[in-house]
Amino acid sequence: MSAALSLDAWKSQAATLAYRNQAFIGGKYVPAASGKTFDCVNPATGQVLTQVAACDQEDVDRAVKAARAAFEKGTWSRMAGAERKKILQKFADLIDKHSTELALLETLDMGKPIRDSSKIDVPLSAGCIRWYAEAIDKVYDEIAPTGPEAISLIRREPLGVVAAVVPWNFPLLMSSWKIGPALATGNSFILKPAEQSPLTGIRIAELASEAGIPDGVFNVVPGFGETAGQALGRHMDVDCIAFTGSTEVGKYFLKYSGESNMKRVSLECGGKSPNIIMADAPDLDAAATAAAWGIFFNQGEVCNAGSRLIVEESVKDRVLEKVFAVGKKLQPGDPLDPKTGLGAMVDKTQMERVLGYIDAGKKEGAKLVFGGNRVRQEAGGYYIEPTVFDGVSNKMKIAQEEIFGPVLSTITFKDADEAVKIGNDTIYGLAAAVWTKDITKAFKASAALRAGVVWVNCFDNGSITSPFGGFKQSGFGRDKSLHAMEKYTELKATWIHIGN
Ligand code: NDP
Repeated sequence: MSAALSLDAWKSQAATLAYRNQAFIGGKYVPAASGKTFDCVNPATGQVLTQVAACDQEDVDRAVKAARAAFEKGTWSRMAGAERKKILQKFADLIDKHSTELALLETLDMGKPIRDSSKIDVPLSAGCIRWYAEAIDKVYDEIAPTGPEAISLIRREPLGVVAAVVPWNFPLLMSSWKIGPALATGNSFILKPAEQSPLTGIRIAELASEAGIPDGVFNVVPGFGETAGQALGRHMDVDCIAFTGSTEVGKYFLKYSGESNMKRVSLECGGKSPNIIMADAPDLDAAATAAAWGIFFNQGEVCNAGSRLIVEESVKDRVLEKVFAVGKKLQPGDPLDPKTGLGAMVDKTQMERVLGYIDAGKKEGAKLVFGGNRVRQEAGGYYIEPTVFDGVSNKMKIAQEEIFGPVLSTITFKDADEAVKIGNDTIYGLAAAVWTKDITKAFKASAALRAGVVWVNCFDNGSITSPFGGFKQSGFGRDKSLHAMEKYTELKATWIHIGN
């Protein structure tokens, strides 16, 4: 099991790792048509790992052509469900089989602790693909109750060419949330990984092929958002864009769609999730511990991070004390050390962005009560310690904008209505939490919070069986659960005349 490896064992595996660094189009690795590459940097050390193909319009055209041809040929799109299931199950098995390598690639590429990539990212990715594989022959179409003279068959058909543009915070997992349902429903697929973290996406293309996914059905075009991402968004022969990333870029995809072929767009964008702790929480220590993990996990680079701690004034000090205790234990360390709980920020730009927000918080008059600094500079990487602001007003920049770093803003309230009002005072609506043992208060607050996921007396619980996605400017469309299959299919009503 990969999780049992020591720091030295991970380091020696890293030293011998071979990187796949080209695009994967039509069933094989190819360089970018332009021959251009970009540096793929390990954010834990600042060292270049490899040079990756920088795809642009021409490569996207080739990938779309391959994907369309495969779709039309029908080897995958019209394959019997039970067969498609077996192949996707094998794909999931291969991800598990290569879990050590994939966890290593993820950690080296984006700085997250190996403990997380090996125990969370990789197994959940395989599990996600397997879950959709298993769903294939268990989801039925419908017959409408039209009366005896006709039958209307209501069927779901694949869209055709689906492109996923994904971020760097959970590269493999965010991709899998789209790969699973899109492939299970018979589409051809093109993945554009984030420029900061292309390595696992490129590697699994080969595993997909080894599992038996036909050439052209699974393609990967690494490159930049403005080039490869935009070319997919504007392509006249892409039927659907499944996007996870910032709200700003999500809006571009709506524009690209409107200015091209009205392709379907689903958006999983940012968040500024309120984590509301009432004085009558069933276990204040558990609530505070969850609040700390809810913002420090994955270096705070989590779309649903509980970045606003909205806590009842009378218990604030007790809650913060516990948050600091967790923060002290979670100091950044070498991501390859299995004991590390907090790794490096994904790159220098993101680190500077987060430090900029910490400065802005101080300037706006919030009280920095924990952390706030860049650390481990001697390692050459980009580390920020867990950071907590107290005395935050919800109008401040650090309460309104998504920081995407380990920075918690503490806001107090006096009654439940005020807490919900503050919670909803944001452009986002991805997730929210409320902690209280009063069932009436819990139900009223969870109903009033405008968010796609609301946790009661827990934080960040999730399962592939339950949908994930946002309200408001956190986007629309859902990943996970059977509902995700709706995103990648078109409803068709076929009327068959029977007569008298
Ligand atoms: P982006 O939204 O910029 O990137 C997400 C994906 O979109 C990447 O693959 C990116 O490519 C691509 N992209 C970027 N610009 C364009 C464009 N003009 N046209 C088409 N595609 C584009 O997020 P970032 O990775 O830059 O992070 C910035 C902020 O976004 C974060 O600090 C955070 O606030 C938020 N974010 C939210 C996430 C979530 O899960 N909700 C995840 C990641 C980020 P490339 O990487 O090559 O630029």
